[in-house]
Amino acid sequence: MQDTQLAADLVIGILGASIKHRCRRSQAGNLTWTRRPHTAMQGAFAEHQAMLQKLSAKGRRRVEVVQVRTPEELRRCDGLIIPGGESTTIALLARLSGMMEPLREFVGAKPVWGTCAGAILLAQAVSNPKRGGQELLHGVSVEITRNGWGSQVESFEAPLEVSGLRNAEVPFTGVFIRAPVIAELIEAAHDSQQQPIKVLSRISRSLLPSSLPDGGGDVSAAQTVVALRQGRHLLTTFHPELTDDDRFHEYFVQECVIPSLASRRNG
Ligand code: GLN
Repeated sequence: MQDTQLAADLVIGILGASIKHRCRRSQAGNLTWTRRPHTAMQGAFAEHQAMLQKLSAKGRRRVEVVQVRTPEELRRCDGLIIPGGESTTIALLARLSGMMEPLREFVGAKPVWGTCAGAILLAQAVSNPKRGGQELLHGVSVEITRNGWGSQVESFEAPLEVSGLRNAEVPFTGVFIRAPVIAELIEAAHDSQQQPIKVLSRISRSLLPSSLPDGGGDVSAAQTVVALRQGRHLLTTFHPELTDDDRFHEYFVQECVIPSLASRRNG
């Protein structure tokens, strides 16, 4: 009998409750998108899964990709991706399925990568939350502004320079869909154990909206940050799974998941 669970070197989970984004390019060349809540669970999952399987096929380590909707599924994972979608819906579904506490425990122990809505969930604090508040996992010490690019510019692409990726001199295409903007990198208190934040990529200032919710105009250094890492966690405000470039997935596996697994095994 073939036991794929035993054969895998790593298990990466993708949180299930999300919304599928279907991107199209209009004749004018603009990026448009629609949301399809029902197929969501497959959608974001399928794209992340395809990337990870591609990596697994060409790498030395076999990665098993699982969809995570229960605490039992989460327990099997060595790392977790929280995909895009609608952060409030993801949080609500997580709460309804008893996942909020297991997710917080996971964030405290193992690597998590939040993309777009997932980045909001992973943040320490959110500005412009949905009415009634928004539950967060408090994994990365940033404050983030939902829909920070405003409703006029809902989606766009931008070439990004990203440090740490393979062939870092080749730009990575950032696909931004109603993306959040990082409002603040929250400083650690002197006595805290907080890991430093490592900025991996910034977007050009000229692409930032002129009226950010905090009054705009005066662009802070945090607002240009679109990818960062803190300890074992990774945060991107855009969607690397909607490109055919697997370098961010490779970065997460190589730089976040494998070292964290090794340090847990050694001690
Ligand atoms: N605007 C969405 C939110 O607030 C995020 C959009 C996305 O994930 N593409 O959750």
